[in-house]
Amino acid sequence: MTLKVAINGYGTIGKRVADAVALQDDMEIIGVTKRRPTFEAKMAIKNGFPFYAADQEFVKDFEAEKIPVQGTLKDLLKKADIVMDCTPKKCGYKPMYEEFGKKAIFQGGEKHELTGLSFNAIANYDKAIGADYVRVVSCNTTGLCRTLYPLDEAFGIENVTAVMIRRGADPWDSKSGPINAIEPVLKVPSHHGPDVQSVMPNLNIQTTAVKVPTTIMHLHSIVVRLKDKATTEDVVETWDKTPRVKFVCAKHGIKSTAQIMELAKDLGKKRSDLFEIAIWRDGVHVVDNVLYYYQAIHQESDVVPENIDAIRAMCNLESDKMKSIEKTNKAMGIE
Ligand code: NAD
Repeated sequence: MTLKVAINGYGTIGKRVADAVALQDDMEIIGVTKRRPTFEAKMAIKNGFPFYAADQEFVKDFEAEKIPVQGTLKDLLKKADIVMDCTPKKCGYKPMYEEFGKKAIFQGGEKHELTGLSFNAIANYDKAIGADYVRVVSCNTTGLCRTLYPLDEAFGIENVTAVMIRRGADPWDSKSGPINAIEPVLKVPSHHGPDVQSVMPNLNIQTTAVKVPTTIMHLHSIVVRLKDKATTEDVVETWDKTPRVKFVCAKHGIKSTAQIMELAKDLGKKRSDLFEIAIWRDGVHVVDNVLYYYQAIHQESDVVPENIDAIRAMCNLESDKMKSIEKTNKAMGIE
């Protein structure tokens, strides 16, 4: 018997999580929801996912577009073991999931306080075992946790200072920006540092952020003062052993996020997603025990495998984090 997973909100994250669940042998998609009869609703049907309206009021719009609807979110919840809330932030579905007695996973747009448990597989898988409500942290926080946690384990971290250079919008989004400006986040620290601490509470981290006119990736410039003595090679060796971290190299023609996305296209995953965090190998430098590095984040996809591991932990499908990570990676073709 496989675990029955429902997706509420078949958008940027929801459609990717649905595909990732469908690739696993211990879970299945029993339905996805949307509010509007968009091309994504039609694609959900084409992909073979049972389709549900987010609410009764939207059913007539789907029917008018000849999109077959199996029922509403409430009908879907009755059949599900767990619901993946992939709706925009603050949509407020948690009371409904509680009413139906269903476990739920929320996304990084929500505040930590919604669930009291923020998740990153490598950093705190064990905390989510058997939990009812979990928030998978945002794409930026996922990137920071993935590369900082193994460093903290291997060498200890005195402090971290990181600058988030954030994409202005997702590629499909023609309304957001900036289009021709650089916009600093004037609140200091930016929310990213405290968000990392929701997963790694003892980490001394400060972050600032700027938004730039690009849609394809975020880039982080990170400075880490290590506790134990380490060389550049020690750090590289540590990340070499870390799942979901991928080295890229300027001398092999990858000098910018544009070439990373070209590599992702060549790797041939669906939607050209890059689930790994890309670190420039030739940008890693340890000087006087201070580590400098750059990493790039494919915002639409790095959180997807984390959602799968969160399901396994919460529903007691696997108690060993590395086994879950390996299983997820194998099914999704992640190195
Ligand atoms: P999206 O707008 O692409 O998709 C949201 C989906 O939710 C849509 O399909 C919409 O039909 C549905 N929906 C259900 N109830 C809704 C309601 N009440 N109002 C509006 N839409 C409703 O959003 P997304 O980018 O997938 O973001 C979902 C969550 O994932 C957010 O918490 C976001 O912060 C987080 N996240 C997004 C990204 C990213 O790059 N897009 C990365 C990491 C995390």
